[in-house]
Amino acid sequence: MEYYSTVDKSRRVPLAEAVMRSIAPDGGLYMPAMIPQLPKAFFNNISELSLGDIGYVITNTLFGSEIGSETIKKIISDTLSFEMPLKRVGEGKYGLELFHGPTLAFKDVGARFMARLSSHFSKGKGCNVLVATSGDTGGAVANGFYNLPGVNVFVLYPMRKMSRFQEAQFTTLGGNIHALAINGDFDDCHDLVRQVFMDSDLATRLNLVSVNSINVARLLPQTIYYFHAWARLPEHERRRGNVVFSVPSGNLGNLVAGVIAKRMGLPVSRFIAVNNSNDIFTEYLRTGRYLTRPIVRTLANAMDVGDPSNFGRLLDLYDGDHKLMAGEIQGVAYNDVEIGCTIRDTLDSCGLLLDPHGASALQGLHDCLASGETGIFLATAHPAKYQEEVEHALGRKIAIDNPLKGIAGRSRNIERIAPNVDALKKYIITHAK
Ligand SMILES: *Cc1c(COP(=O)(O)O)cnc(C)c1O
Repeated sequence: MEYYSTVDKSRRVPLAEAVMRSIAPDGGLYMPAMIPQLPKAFFNNISELSLGDIGYVITNTLFGSEIGSETIKKIISDTLSFEMPLKRVGEGKYGLELFHGPTLAFKDVGARFMARLSSHFSKGKGCNVLVATSGDTGGAVANGFYNLPGVNVFVLYPMRKMSRFQEAQFTTLGGNIHALAINGDFDDCHDLVRQVFMDSDLATRLNLVSVNSINVARLLPQTIYYFHAWARLPEHERRRGNVVFSVPSGNLGNLVAGVIAKRMGLPVSRFIAVNNSNDIFTEYLRTGRYLTRPIVRTLANAMDVGDPSNFGRLLDLYDGDHKLMAGEIQGVAYNDVEIGCTIRDTLDSCGLLLDPHGASALQGLHDCLASGETGIFLATAHPAKYQEEVEHALGRKIAIDNPLKGIAGRSRNIERIAPNVDALKKYIITHAK
């Protein structure tokens, strides 16, 4: 299957090029030229398929014509090395726990897949990965690529704007992982990455790969867990139809993957997109106007985004038609006080401790689910990953069993880089593989 750029749809490239370039030379985002359909029969016995089986079918449907099924099998079993349980949280409400991977967040899925696919496409040539992160991306990508031979990773992140724990996930690895602290915010980091990739000579010479949620190899595998969640619903919920996903949204990669899953045939009726106080997207859904804004910091800081990088893809999926998009995606936004309330209430009422991102998505179900609908919210991060934020919301200390305890105490390797593209290029050229 070919991929086109959202800026100029007539330019089509093969998967390998879309993956290795990440951004089209015209600045557009790559989209599959055709969204493949799954056969109806697939849904008849889907509840008997394991996560790995479902992952294989979806990946084969998306990428089978470019990479052989043996490679797909290997990549998928390496990628989906952890569970994603669906838990009932109330009448017609379920949470999909996407946080049992190596960095305790859903970004592990896309990052692990992407790491293996790009190293497959590099075929022995060295490659250099460049990624900007405001939260969980850095850790997921760094861990996905950690120690993969022939790969160097540069993680750009806003200095002093992440939790100690988030920072520890990519600054303590060393080896092929370079952590670059930028004096600025996430949008500055993202912009620097964009500028480096616009230098196509440099990008080609260094075999530069970008692994933000803009890369199709990160985005498309995220469709897998929408199918998996649907498969794990009790049969009566599946039969009733009217399944709604509530998606805590920042750069909108997760939401775009959900919409693509629906276009592939997943019987979902609609989506709830949840923002925190950085409600650029939900404002767009409400008003039809897309107004970028400076970021404000919130408890759900992986959703602190002022100009969501996948917005162009959503526009593309709905042909720029605001009405069409707003008819299928309902937007709702919560501030820190509201998110904190949901964390407290959920712990009190059902003993379930949520992280701020998952909590916002559950609140989306509470407020937007109509009767007769079944809601699934994406629990995108483990509460232990946001211990400080959770304790702030609860107003007290709480013991959370952290599967990764220990990393916060390890020594860190951080390089401070001035927020300009030349300083960044110089560092990358010096340290490239
Ligand atoms: C990245 C992230 C989000 C937002 O996902 P997008 O695909 O950028 O919209 C939500 N929750 C957590 C925990 C994240 O790390």
